[in-house]
Amino acid sequence: MNEMGGPDLIPARMLNEFAYCPRLCYIEWIQGEFIDSSDTTDGRFQHRRVDLEKGCIKDDEHEPIHARSVYMTAPEVGLACRIDLLEGDGFRVTPVDYKRGEVPEIPEKIYEPDRVQLCAQCLVLRENGFECVEGIAYFIRSRKRVAVKFDDELVKRTKDLIAELRRVAERGIIPPPLKDSPKCVRCSIASICLPDEVNLLRKISDADETETAPHIRRLLPDRDDAKPVYVIGQGHTVRKKGDRLEIWNKDEKVGDAKLREISQLSLYGGVEITTPAMVELMQRCIPVIHFSYGGWFHGICIGTTHKNVELRIRQYQSATDPERALLLARKIIAGKIRNCRTLIRRNDSEVQRETLVTLARLAKNAESANSADSLLGIEGAAAEVYFSRLGCLLKGTQFSFENRNKRPPRDPVNAVLSYLYAVLVKDVFVTLLAVGFDPYLGFYHRPRYGRPALALDMMEEFRPLIADSVALTLFNNKELSKNDFQRTGIGISLTSDGKRTVIEGYERRMETEIRHPLFGYKVSYRRVLEIQARLLARMLSGEIREYPPFCTR
Ligand code: SF4
Repeated sequence: MNEMGGPDLIPARMLNEFAYCPRLCYIEWIQGEFIDSSDTTDGRFQHRRVDLEKGCIKDDEHEPIHARSVYMTAPEVGLACRIDLLEGDGFRVTPVDYKRGEVPEIPEKIYEPDRVQLCAQCLVLRENGFECVEGIAYFIRSRKRVAVKFDDELVKRTKDLIAELRRVAERGIIPPPLKDSPKCVRCSIASICLPDEVNLLRKISDADETETAPHIRRLLPDRDDAKPVYVIGQGHTVRKKGDRLEIWNKDEKVGDAKLREISQLSLYGGVEITTPAMVELMQRCIPVIHFSYGGWFHGICIGTTHKNVELRIRQYQSATDPERALLLARKIIAGKIRNCRTLIRRNDSEVQRETLVTLARLAKNAESANSADSLLGIEGAAAEVYFSRLGCLLKGTQFSFENRNKRPPRDPVNAVLSYLYAVLVKDVFVTLLAVGFDPYLGFYHRPRYGRPALALDMMEEFRPLIADSVALTLFNNKELSKNDFQRTGIGISLTSDGKRTVIEGYERRMETEIRHPLFGYKVSYRRVLEIQARLLARMLSGEIREYPPFCTR
């Protein structure tokens, strides 16, 4: 049995988290979300010795006990725990819990959640027939032991928390985020929880003007340390060597990257990957994404699916409820039209005021569209206005743009746009999977075999901001030339070198930091994708009333 101890038993570690913050426990235990931070990685490293099972407990009251990583359950009290070290004599035992870090500088020398966790271990031991009156917290950095007496007050507090945690789990409603709490700064899942962001959006929708707007702290890293790796080229092979991936073209090594620095691996065309490389990537939860040579998204391989089944249930409920689906679709399309308008306003000095007014009006109409069909019509009208001006944003280049065409694109600008949309939908797809969504069930794009409808929905607001903007930059900066395109039948496609140039431009854009228009902090576009996906999850869980599309000013 694993440490979670099955659905009926609460792991003592989760009780610790519940005492720290009920929402943290809910996200990790009920929703199954967890990310490694430097703190958790360090914690595991510090714990490595006690995590190895060693020693045993004999059924002899005179035998000394010294056992490591002891797993026990207590069905009556409803707990399970893994005790780092169990010391004792016969049936009188003391659990020792290893804590990374130093003894805290507070009068009790140990925080309440850690005392509760030890007390939970005591309750498990007592139910298993042991005598247990105190526990020890061993602080690895200070190399000090701190004793915790299991008095009536602590036992009552622990039992109250067990009962409260059960109530919260049964209710199935995520507890609200803490308000401006210093605990969030050290919380390993702050980038999943988004405490300040959720509090702000709840305040905006509640329109409670008696309170001042909360200060938004950027609790998530501004960008990922790990980067996507792209392999383009027939006949290339990806292999694993030690802690690196190597890319070979026949007998020649053409590239390599450290596994821990890879966030995703995208393979274009006939690229092969060896089984050891595939297994390693699956174990590390690094997605492998397959494209055709032309950039058509084939699919994705990942280790395991996300555990947040609660989110998927809510997604299915909302997507199959036409009214709720329309509410969300309106926001997404209104956001997209606003971003199209911003791109033109910023870059088209000759644009008529009337064009901008039309786009603003269409964005407003989208927000109040009374059916999915009417929304589709509004989006189509906005696209017509927008694409009629896109060609005017190409400056000092030999390339031109008349209108949007696809399958196949019939000019270089459309070839680049199609290619960028495919790369962008791939990134949105991966982000949605990482957050726990089913990317195939959307709110605006209706389900169709093989169509990543939710990824297409979520991509809408980013099309002008990321894909169109990258295309314009590449052409206007003359990074792409006629040699980067080839004729294929009636269509035009990018050559391998052209694709590399486009992907480089795309990655530059994704790494660009922008000031978040709602939250005020700086983040990369790649992070913004994740924030938006998490806000969608918060909206579906009912924590925030409306989905706020990402709109630049
Ligand atoms: S970020 Fe704050 S509110 Fe959110 S789970 Fe962590 S401690 Fe709780």
